[in-house]
Amino acid sequence: MTTSTPANTPAAVPEAALETAKTSNFLRQIIENDLDKGTYASRQWGGTPGDAAHHAKGQPDPARIRTRFPPEPNGYLHIGHAKSICINFGLARDYGGVCHLRFDDTNPEKEDTEYVNSIIDAVKWLGFDWNGSADAAPYQASDYFDFMYRAAEYLVEAGHAYVDEQTVEQMRANRGDFGKPGVDSPFRSRTPAENLKRFHEMRNGEHEDGSMVLRAKIDMASPNINMRDPAIYRIRRATHHNTGDTWCIYPMYTYAHPIEDALEQITHSLCTLEFEDQRPFYDWLLERLTEGGLLGNPPPRQYEFSRLNLTYVITSKRKLAQLVYDHKVSGWDDPRMPTIVGLRRRGYTPESLQVFAERIGVTKSDSWIDYSTLEGCLREDLELKAFRGMAVLNPVKLVLTNWDEVMGAGHLEPCTLPSLPHPPEGVESPERHFTIGKEVWIEREDFEEVPTKGYKRLFPGNKVRLKGGYVIECTGCTKDADGKITEVLATVVPDTKSGTPGADSVKVKAAITWVGVADGVPAEVRIYDRLFLEAQPDAGGKDFIEGLNPNSLKTVAAIVEPSLGHAHKDDKFQFERHGYFVADRVDHQPGKPVFNLAVGLKDSWGK
Ligand code: ATP
Ligand code: MG
Repeated sequence: MTTSTPANTPAAVPEAALETAKTSNFLRQIIENDLDKGTYASRQWGGTPGDAAHHAKGQPDPARIRTRFPPEPNGYLHIGHAKSICINFGLARDYGGVCHLRFDDTNPEKEDTEYVNSIIDAVKWLGFDWNGSADAAPYQASDYFDFMYRAAEYLVEAGHAYVDEQTVEQMRANRGDFGKPGVDSPFRSRTPAENLKRFHEMRNGEHEDGSMVLRAKIDMASPNINMRDPAIYRIRRATHHNTGDTWCIYPMYTYAHPIEDALEQITHSLCTLEFEDQRPFYDWLLERLTEGGLLGNPPPRQYEFSRLNLTYVITSKRKLAQLVYDHKVSGWDDPRMPTIVGLRRRGYTPESLQVFAERIGVTKSDSWIDYSTLEGCLREDLELKAFRGMAVLNPVKLVLTNWDEVMGAGHLEPCTLPSLPHPPEGVESPERHFTIGKEVWIEREDFEEVPTKGYKRLFPGNKVRLKGGYVIECTGCTKDADGKITEVLATVVPDTKSGTPGADSVKVKAAITWVGVADGVPAEVRIYDRLFLEAQPDAGGKDFIEGLNPNSLKTVAAIVEPSLGHAHKDDKFQFERHGYFVADRVDHQPGKPVFNLAVGLKDSWGK
């Protein structure tokens, strides 16, 4: 099948690479050190996740390192997750490793396949594939429930876990706090045989939800509260999106996560700093299961980095969900949302987000990244790639009163301009075609009846160039009864068309953008501003809803040149002088265009 593409339609945007030098960071140093020492060189890989016996039957692991990105499918991914994705997939790529996409779906209540699909799309769109091949299925933590249960039985048998029947309140009270050691549960000294019997009863549905939990038996006096016999299994009669009603007990996240990593032979388990206090339990658990022969050696190691905080942005799935469910935005993919689907719809490119992740770096100290850093990455990317076009966002009609006389009645003169004024080496810029006639649209602000000081555009007696067209001389305007300008009047200076020998014969101080009345296409243009007025919208428990910017979306009826009118969904452009715009992925249709402002031409933040 052939599709006809108008000559001025940007069918393909040339590939231009945005380069950012890769700087070293503490994670790279850890990995390089492990590779030097051969820390993981002896690992086997059984071809799929599995226990020690499974991997022992496999081959030496072809992946030099294994990392993972383990989202909980309980919402849409956001810019913070993009950082984590770029770190985990980027390190695996750079060091000859493999990164796993794993759904951390051990919590039956909050998860949904809608989120699963959106996460798959987001990771693919960012440019990564997982689990060692382009068409591999993501891993799912819930596939490991059998092993987790077996591992828990082992811990019970080895005296490392017990069933606790204290109430939630008793357990909380007996856990102590920073200054006060915990108190042993009266159930802590049960024998392994008694505990095993109880645990089996839990699994068989013989006890009420919440009536007892399985706890690791570690140290109730530990200065780290996470080591004071953390719960590892709870009773919960809930249908799971993957395992249905097979289980009425579910592992706790802190127990499940290290096991998931170990079954997948992860070498470097990278997470955000809030998990730092969990690391001792992570290590404790994997040591127990390794010494029991259930898991292979050496175990994965956890390393923490600081989460992304971006000014004027919220990065909490729960709070983002609130914006969606309270209809403060149009959905998860509202172009003002910091979700990956929102950023994509706003006009962000995968390359711009990858460069952003690289540029903000990886550290262990919490800090705020300025929103302008993110916008700068997009601007740099689109500067190279986006085709240029003219759009009039606040139109007023300009009438060339001598046109019929000097050019011929009804004449339309074809004009061209390059789509890329500075094409990358070896790329020839396509041309855009449009026409000029007696009437064109110009920006209302490009005419002043009485010019202010220094004003160089249209005012009676002044000459300017219509970009890519002719030099014109302003003669005045017409107004309605309220004094509002209805038409700007000018005469065309013949033989001054851009690109012809006479173009330079008349000198002008300004060139203005315009769109022909004959071939201009009406378009809806959505002008977005920051969603929040405050730089740290949810800091210190603030009600972030209060900080919403009431003017974060303004819709204007614009007129765009034909090449923009023929755009396809997702095509990105620089509207000359206005900024970068994208044809909306949802509402745009060729011939009935809808554009979103992606980013302005200059950094306007904090000004
Ligand atoms: P949220 O708090 O928004 O719900 P989360 O941490 O609960 O996010 P997960 O699905 O558990 O979401 O996250 C998957 C991975 O993304 C985790 O490894 C987590 O550490 C990382 N991550 C989440 N938010 C950020 C952030 N702001 N910056 C960097 N990494 C993040
Ligand atoms: Mg989380």
